[in-house]
Amino acid sequence: MFSEDEIRHHFPILDRKINGQPLVYLDNAATTQKPMEVLFASKHYYEAMNSNIHRGTHYLARLATEGFEKARKTVADHLNAASTDEIIFTSGTTDGINLVADVLALSGTIGAGDEILISTLEHHSNIVPWQMLCQRTGAELKVIPCDDDGVLDQEGFRALLNGRTKVLAIGWISNAFGTVHPVAEMTAAAKAAGVPYVLLDAAQATPHVKMDVQAVGADFVALSGHKVYANTGIGVLWGRADVLNALPPWRGGGEMIKEVTFAGTTYNDLPFKYEAGTPNIEGAIALEAALDFVNQIGVGEIAAHEHDLIQAAAAGLAEIPDVRLYGPADRAGALSFNIAGIHHYDLGTLLDQMGVAVRTGHHCCQPLMARFGISGTTRASFAVYNTLADVEIFVASVRKAVGMLR
Ligand code: PLP
Repeated sequence: MFSEDEIRHHFPILDRKINGQPLVYLDNAATTQKPMEVLFASKHYYEAMNSNIHRGTHYLARLATEGFEKARKTVADHLNAASTDEIIFTSGTTDGINLVADVLALSGTIGAGDEILISTLEHHSNIVPWQMLCQRTGAELKVIPCDDDGVLDQEGFRALLNGRTKVLAIGWISNAFGTVHPVAEMTAAAKAAGVPYVLLDAAQATPHVKMDVQAVGADFVALSGHKVYANTGIGVLWGRADVLNALPPWRGGGEMIKEVTFAGTTYNDLPFKYEAGTPNIEGAIALEAALDFVNQIGVGEIAAHEHDLIQAAAAGLAEIPDVRLYGPADRAGALSFNIAGIHHYDLGTLLDQMGVAVRTGHHCCQPLMARFGISGTTRASFAVYNTLADVEIFVASVRKAVGMLR
């Protein structure tokens, strides 16, 4: 059973007062708050387990190594990966996408005249690494258009697929508008057209969707721990083992090697081949705690709860004169809007004074903002601990702020 009170008690920060008001935290697409389980896992790691991994013979080294590898197994199970070899710990989604783009550039399989296909709704993290790959290889960036609801144009997408398309890299859920893209269908279409590599940016999908990487059929899925109640600085790149095995290593250093001589180096097997240097051991263990927390409640239950909140928020905002909501009616996670004649930054500042934390600006999606002819939006984004009371305060605060700004 889902008890709101019980859930909220897991998040100590929610008891904070902001500007003398109870905190209404609606900036979850930027980062989520952390439950006690995650805070405890981080503290416990440093109090009872701290050591470097994979190299020591002593007790603490074994304990830390076991903890880190157990976390990898939890992540693999959570994503339904075929093997723990496919779980690369990274520092986050940005890191995972850069890994893939760099390694594909190094692989020599992408060259002048090839095409990299992304979409209008991408976060800068899923644009810039591909632009950099294009600069290095001579490939060209192509962009799937979207309609006025922020929904990807599927006909336009299919028309862009051709024999030169080497990569399809798209988000799963838009951080700016909450659009859920049909990633399994788009992956299947890309594969049917012979696209060798499909990458999904799952930064926003991780907290809202029960992901099954085998079912969705992509080659890479990148995610960030901090979007799903874990720490900053830990993330995961899932990659199909046969694909990763065929690609060159990325960063050089400890852990990713089998044997080093001054004449040359042989590289380690997966997943260590892509984990050069000391990883974020505590972060991986905290991520495991976060996934356990999420799975105890159920990703489906969390998504249904957030869906109710987002619908209530959209209905409340829609009654405010001159409001423009962005994204389709069936959003996940995030609700973006503008009110004619009011700058999103002014609105966000007033909401903050009322204890309501939202995000304003371009949401790291400047090309999407340009597509809609705006400099930014105000975005409310939801998590497991938000309540209908939060939504009511949020909508009433927006109304009040509008009254003050007009
Ligand atoms: N992709 C999307 C859709 C995001 O929302 C974000 C973060 O907001 C990122 C990528 C980048 O994530 P990180 O900063 O954790 O690497």
